[in-house]
Amino acid sequence: MFETIAPNIHVLVSRSFDSNIGLIDGGKQKALIDTGTGMYHSFLEGSLLKVGVTIESITDILLTHSHIDHIGGVANIIREASPKVHLHKAEADLINAGDMRLTLADTFGAEVPRMKIEGVLQEGSMISIGNIKIDVLHTPGHSSGSVCYHIKEKGIVFTGDTMFSGGSFGRVDFPTGNPREIVESLKRLSELDDFNTALPGHMAPVRVSATRSALSSYQMARNWFNVDI
Ligand SMILES: [Zn+2]
Ligand SMILES: [Zn+2]
Repeated sequence: MFETIAPNIHVLVSRSFDSNIGLIDGGKQKALIDTGTGMYHSFLEGSLLKVGVTIESITDILLTHSHIDHIGGVANIIREASPKVHLHKAEADLINAGDMRLTLADTFGAEVPRMKIEGVLQEGSMISIGNIKIDVLHTPGHSSGSVCYHIKEKGIVFTGDTMFSGGSFGRVDFPTGNPREIVESLKRLSELDDFNTALPGHMAPVRVSATRSALSSYQMARNWFNVDI
């Protein structure tokens, strides 16, 4: 079931290997933030219907990075709709060249079909979903193309697998992961203005004082990786 976080912003918290899935309902434009593995497509479809949204009406998919638990569901959605898929350049260029290695599909014995990433993102890219404005923050560390999506006016950041609740943070032992970079990225989140709510790629949302939660993730990561930033 999608939980409503703020007007027109919802999140489906996963109870499986799937990522959480966000929904930004901008009226004629509607975006999903990550898509899960795709193994639970009919559950996603049913959950969307309960908040009055059909798969066909999805106009944009904003990926926080290209791991299979976030990108896997894109294939089902593009069978029924024609959304523009957004992903940071560091991973989009590979996927557009047909190189799916960074999805880790092989590692998990699955397959991610080729797809076209039209929304190739960089630090500072801006996306509008209806009248909801989203700033793209490049936050590498979990993977080279990891991004966070910041909705300043609502104080909400979709943090992907960079920052989790309870002072936790993403692992860095997959290809292109980097401990120093994730510490830098968490530090940056801890210094953001207008950041009350964190909607991570896994586990529970942080609904109050997300900046403080980011600060504890940053401090934990700094100590854990023994990186002096
Ligand atoms: Zn993940
Ligand atoms: Zn990941």
